[in-house]
Amino acid sequence: MELLNIKECDIKGKKVFIRCDFNVPMDDYGNITDDRRIRSALSTINYCLDQGCAIILASHFGRPKGEVDEKYTLAPIARRLHQLLKINVQMTEDVIGENAIKLAAHLQGGEILLLENLRFEKGETKNDPELSAALASMAEVYINDAFGVSHRAHASVEGITEYFDKAHKAAGFLLQKEIQFFGVLLDRPVRPFAAIVGGSKVSGKLEALINLLPKVDKVLIGGGMAFTFLKALGYDVGNSLVEDDLLDEAMNVMNEAKRLGVKFYLPVDVVAAEKFAPDAMSRLTSVQEIPAGWMGLDIGPATVRLYRQVLNDVQTILWNGPMGVYEMDRFSRGSNKIAHFVADSYATTVVGGGDTADLVQRIGLDEEMSFISTGGGASLELLEGKILPGVKPLLK
Ligand code: AMP
Repeated sequence: MELLNIKECDIKGKKVFIRCDFNVPMDDYGNITDDRRIRSALSTINYCLDQGCAIILASHFGRPKGEVDEKYTLAPIARRLHQLLKINVQMTEDVIGENAIKLAAHLQGGEILLLENLRFEKGETKNDPELSAALASMAEVYINDAFGVSHRAHASVEGITEYFDKAHKAAGFLLQKEIQFFGVLLDRPVRPFAAIVGGSKVSGKLEALINLLPKVDKVLIGGGMAFTFLKALGYDVGNSLVEDDLLDEAMNVMNEAKRLGVKFYLPVDVVAAEKFAPDAMSRLTSVQEIPAGWMGLDIGPATVRLYRQVLNDVQTILWNGPMGVYEMDRFSRGSNKIAHFVADSYATTVVGGGDTADLVQRIGLDEEMSFISTGGGASLELLEGKILPGVKPLLK
């Protein structure tokens, strides 16, 4: 999949509109708790500065539901951008109102303007052509560097691309890197290739699993989704999270793995708890002996040992989804241990965004992975084999 490349686009001295993904986590006091997404956008912004561009940055933040909501202002993002870039970052009061249009019109080369939260406009998530046209009218060139939202057909991601011809639109460095990384991973991984798949439900990852099966050598299942597979095999998993409507599907996946010669691993033991709570009574048990009414909330030590053994000889690891309820200390050990093992491995290690990126970040292992995606939903859709709506118009 080859994308229109920012380096092949004549942007010298031009006014560029860069769609970024500055949807960063923030605490209750408005402090940015993880600025990876902002830092990831810097190479494209710096490149445009070097080319003497006037730069309009745009992003969504949170879910303000199409209305102005001060809680979701991009002001803290403008401050962090200023700290990182060490140049002034002007901010608009609105998205396509009088203020934004005026500031964008007067923007000079070497200057940066950040539009207020795109989702203050109702049309953003509806891919409204009027909003796309208004945003497009601000600049001569459109750059998409917002991988995290490229799986959404939104006005600033998809609709806007119609207003620029192929010579005036391109993917930024971050988008390019993400697409390339997943492309290589899925088309020509160095083998053996293992996928560690966890998270809450089978339903969320089923399509990705089906698409991955013909490409991988091993699949290691963890998290809540393991219990649907275990139940399909006839185990009594107590009150663990199970999607009963997917038992047949789960069985099909395991049969398909067998047919393809893919080694398919399920947990052999779990940390079971009386209820879904951080202070719940819990104990280690094999998957065959989960007490009636209890639920498995993490993989156990025997599974960790088994998974380490299985991962020992692999050259590529893709990890998407936690092994347990990592948000609660008591059920985070399995995920943490797997994270340490993956981080120490000499394999190429690719972490899907979202929760898995969060858990790796929490324990300070983010620098140890080969690649951490900035988009949970977007990377999952790539794993499902889809072409993202924000990427399609930028294909060569
Ligand atoms: P997902 O969004 O599908 O990747 O799932 C991530 C969520 O799965 C996290 O919030 C975890 O707390 C949750 N999770 C992981 N393991 C379990 C489990 N055994 N039971 C219930 N929820 C789980």
